Order: sequence, then C-alpha cells, then structure tokens
Amino acid sequence: MALRNILEQGHPSLELVCKPVRRIGDHERQILDDMTETMRNAEGIGLAAPQVGILRRMVVIELGDQLFQLINPVITEAEGDQFEFEGCLSVPGMKGRVHRPQRVKVSALDRDGNPVEYEGEGLLARAFCHELDHLDGIVYNSKCEDYQEVDAEPEEEDEEE
Ligand code: ZN
Repeated sequence: MALRNILEQGHPSLELVCKPVRRIGDHERQILDDMTETMRNAEGIGLAAPQVGILRRMVVIELGDQLFQLINPVITEAEGDQFEFEGCLSVPGMKGRVHRPQRVKVSALDRDGNPVEYEGEGLLARAFCHELDHLDGIVYNSKCEDYQEVDAEPEEEDEEE
C-alpha cells in the first residue's frame, strides 16, 4: 500500500463529476487500499477518490472497527434530518454544519465487485452523504452553515472526511 497525496480545495479534481468504475481488478483494489491507508494516516473517517486525484466513483469510510470500501455507491433511501458539524480532509482546519438525512441506505459494489447494501444512521449517514457528494464534485462547505475554524469551539467533535 502507499500513501496518496490529499488534494486541497481549489484543485480542479474536487469540482468534477466522477465516472463509474466499469471494471474491478487489482488496480482498483490497490486504489481502495491506498485510499484506506491515506485516510487512516490523516486520521479521517472518510475519503473519496477525487480527493486523491482519481476521478472514479470510489469511497472509503471507517467508523469504529467498520471499514467500508465502496465502488459506484448510490443512496437508495433517505429519511429524517440532522444538522451537525462536518469537516473535510481537503479543507483542513475548517468545519461547518450541513443538513443531511438522519438515515440513508447505500447500494454499491464491494472490492470484489459483489453488490452490497448498507444502512447508516447519524454520523455514518453523514459520512456516506459527504463522501458521495465528493463524487459529484461537491465539497460540503458549498452548502454548510456556521462555517468556522475548527479551533473556534474545541469542545465540538471534529470528524474529517
Ligand atoms: Zn470531504
């Protein structure tokens, strides 16, 4: 595995709509593993392929001991509302509150190309939404409120995705 460079906001890769992955092989699995290592190294809970300059629909999310490596993920159901702080590894030092569904269902392919479905609530739902937004060229701060430096309120949780 290898660490990849995380692009910061302003880089054009973060503003483009990513293409679906059409073939899943060792190359794609290597990218997912590199993204996982890069996310862990940066102490984030999620990372999308365009954040490392790969314009394909792939994301990794890790919460607790649960690691998701998703290819071509799609939100199939969403319900409820939450309005919590988010951060982003591509926008270091900042956070903002975003309206997200409280619960989502996501369909995707796993690293072997098998269809998988997950349900996420609360923070996991936010992570799914945040990372899938990246695949459409959307960074959270284009639609957040209370945008501020992370240090402004040190007691807040600061999850970076
Ligand atoms: Zn992000």
